[in-house]
Amino acid sequence: MDKTEFSEFAQALSVFYQRDKDLIEFTRDLFAHIYKGSIEGTDAYVHDMEPRTLKGYIYHEHDITTTAKKISGALDIGSFAEYLKLDADDSVMGLCDAFRATCPDIDESTYEIVLAERFQTIIENAAAPKRKKALPAKKADKANDIDYYTEKYDVSLVAEEQSICPNDGCTNSLFMRVGGQIAPNYEVVVIDYSKPVTGEDNLIAMCPDCAKKYKLAADPAKIRRMQEIKKLFIDIADRQEIVSQQKVVEDVRRVLTKIPALPYPKGVDLNYEPAQLKQKISPDSPDLLAQVKVWVNLYYPDVHETLQELNREGKQRFEPFCHQVRLNYLNLNEKGYSQRQIYEAMIKWLQDATNEDAHACEIVIAYFVQKCEVFDVIS
Ligand SMILES: [Zn+2]
Repeated sequence: MDKTEFSEFAQALSVFYQRDKDLIEFTRDLFAHIYKGSIEGTDAYVHDMEPRTLKGYIYHEHDITTTAKKISGALDIGSFAEYLKLDADDSVMGLCDAFRATCPDIDESTYEIVLAERFQTIIENAAAPKRKKALPAKKADKANDIDYYTEKYDVSLVAEEQSICPNDGCTNSLFMRVGGQIAPNYEVVVIDYSKPVTGEDNLIAMCPDCAKKYKLAADPAKIRRMQEIKKLFIDIADRQEIVSQQKVVEDVRRVLTKIPALPYPKGVDLNYEPAQLKQKISPDSPDLLAQVKVWVNLYYPDVHETLQELNREGKQRFEPFCHQVRLNYLNLNEKGYSQRQIYEAMIKWLQDATNEDAHACEIVIAYFVQKCEVFDVIS
């Protein structure tokens, strides 16, 4: 089965049903409303699912096979249809439009049944035995396990590590930009080779250099250190309310929408020479470079698209905004601030102007660093 099938279905439903829940709890809700064990309260399986698992499902980092196998024999589509009933007619119309491509039969009188059946099909497909690329029946072959889990978890490992090489002293990004495209720049490594690989806990993604060194010279002390680092990531992922990328994008959009209509500053030349981040950020500030890289890698396309869209809708004028950012940068630079101070002052400027989340403002400023309004090539 296409592993995006569930996440596409769930993400499309979330627009209408997520309400004030976060995306992870909303995902749990979907399973809870179709699985008989949860509905009758006889089985805590869905209730006990880890946030990381649910996160992997909704962001199609892994497919839903495990859960599908557990629940596919006990689905209650009547109950799920009940859950899907909407009050407002216009939401129903929007919902039908959103699903027309995948469920051509959908209409305003049957939508809840059509969608409940669709969810049933997705679960049953995921639970069915896979035809291609079957796993070895007996997990006797460690090399196969490593390949399997590496492929299954590489994206979530990189996400967990925030796209930065986790090795001590290294700040390499786990992605590179090649001709406008983002390309992977990492290798998944087994932390402790004497232990089995049965999931992602004994795996970590590193930049190719560190991966090579680690594999050649992993002594007990290095392994212990890497286990500590890994544990830190697991703790962070488990503890923190996982900030969904979608929420961040929404926050960024609000920032961009709220920027007041700015006058066109005169006499500011935009710097259109494309340059790599590392040509613009001083080697004395590796932290700043690493930080900006993460936001650029994760969100540049979202910020760019949102700005273009707002420009088309007349809600934000793109060109004056770029000029205003540039002018602010030039003023701060003239004061002799360090790059770190300029970066922080720019974030604060945007935050003061919009009263929005600092994190979202930082993502917008990082966008302009990449786009060259903020910082110039260091000579
Ligand atoms: Zn590294």
